[in-house]
Amino acid sequence: MDHKVFKFGGASVKDKTGFENVANIIRRFQHENPVVVISALGKTTNALEDIVKSWYTGKGNTRDLLQKLQKQHEDIASSLIPNASDILTEINDTLVEIDWIIEEKPEESFDYYYDQIVSIGEILSTKIMAAYLISIGLPAVWVDARDCIHTDNTYRDARILWDQTQKKTVQKMMPLIEQGKIIITQGFIGSSSENFTTTLGREGSDYTAAILSYCLDAKSMHIWKDVPGVLTADPRLFEDVLKLPRLSYKEAIEMTYYGAKVIHPKTIKPLQNKNIPLYVRPFDDPESEGTLISDVMELSYPPVIVIEPNQCLLHISSNDFSFVAEHHLSSIFALLDKHRIKVNMMRNTAISFSICTNYFPDKIKLFETELGSDFRCVTDEDLELITIRHYNDETLQAMKHNRLVLMEERLHKTIQMVVKNIPVMKRKEVD
Ligand code: ASP
Ligand code: MG
Repeated sequence: MDHKVFKFGGASVKDKTGFENVANIIRRFQHENPVVVISALGKTTNALEDIVKSWYTGKGNTRDLLQKLQKQHEDIASSLIPNASDILTEINDTLVEIDWIIEEKPEESFDYYYDQIVSIGEILSTKIMAAYLISIGLPAVWVDARDCIHTDNTYRDARILWDQTQKKTVQKMMPLIEQGKIIITQGFIGSSSENFTTTLGREGSDYTAAILSYCLDAKSMHIWKDVPGVLTADPRLFEDVLKLPRLSYKEAIEMTYYGAKVIHPKTIKPLQNKNIPLYVRPFDDPESEGTLISDVMELSYPPVIVIEPNQCLLHISSNDFSFVAEHHLSSIFALLDKHRIKVNMMRNTAISFSICTNYFPDKIKLFETELGSDFRCVTDEDLELITIRHYNDETLQAMKHNRLVLMEERLHKTIQMVVKNIPVMKRKEVD
């Protein structure tokens, strides 16, 4: 069978027009057997995060937040579907699951509740999409991704259990594909062996689509986005960005590793393993091929800039001035791992060890406390990490303009700099 996997992110289903546009694309490619993976509506995942936090910490009005979310979903559903009573009941029944949780006091870990509650966003968006497609005469069928995607129970960052996932996905989805059904399923979520819902990490829907592509031996995978394809920099930050028409898997992995937000970093590996081409395409121009990521020979690329905001540098030194030697480093790394502090760049000198990481003050405080009194830890905040792949002098100079470079590393095609923006000083007028 020739079938494809499509993925639509939250931005493509943020309102009525978005749903209609997705439906048009699905209709256009209906005979190519798309399996469709969808994220939660617009900013729903953030809203659900606020709901879990407000209930777990007892701060804020959880019920008000929940009602607002329910209303947004109901409004979209009733604007799309003429006889909306069934879908409105479904929305209500789905949200009752959150009601049940928040009636009690939290007893389990925050991450466990996070997954049970935040996953509801994808359940709602896919239920509305399936009902809408059926209402306009398309043979859509709603599939619960948790019946296919099996994971361990690392809540908020669940790891895939590949053998079970492969078996269940084929069992559940192949017969439907063969019947010509259009499967509508959720990105981002899975289930543990105890049958609890898990999530794969923020923006994880791309990864879901790649997992399904792998398990179903899809002919290709297509991520539909609000950009023309993979670009040389974030168009919100830079002018004159270029679209890259083709990328190798390797280049795509490198770019996402350094923080390019265009695809989730875990997406490429399953596709590369089975040589499945990935298209990143604009949903407002379905004829355009966008960017094709595949197993091509290394191409030559223009400079590609990735900026990670909200960074900090931790400078760790030992109090007795002893070298930060192997035994010190291994205990520092064990602690970083324990607190899931991701090292974006690092450097060690005679007496100190510096790492650049995302600035999460709570995690960093805990880390510092646990480092104990043998170490001293100084933090520089308000930094950015700039990565330029395939850099040239011109781009490098432009990026250094009005910035103080605190740490820099050049490796073959890549340069990385941890920088602080320096305000431009103007001379005072003196008379
Ligand atoms: N809805 C989830 C998020 O916003 C997953 C995704 O969009 O890929 O992180
Ligand atoms: Mg999203």
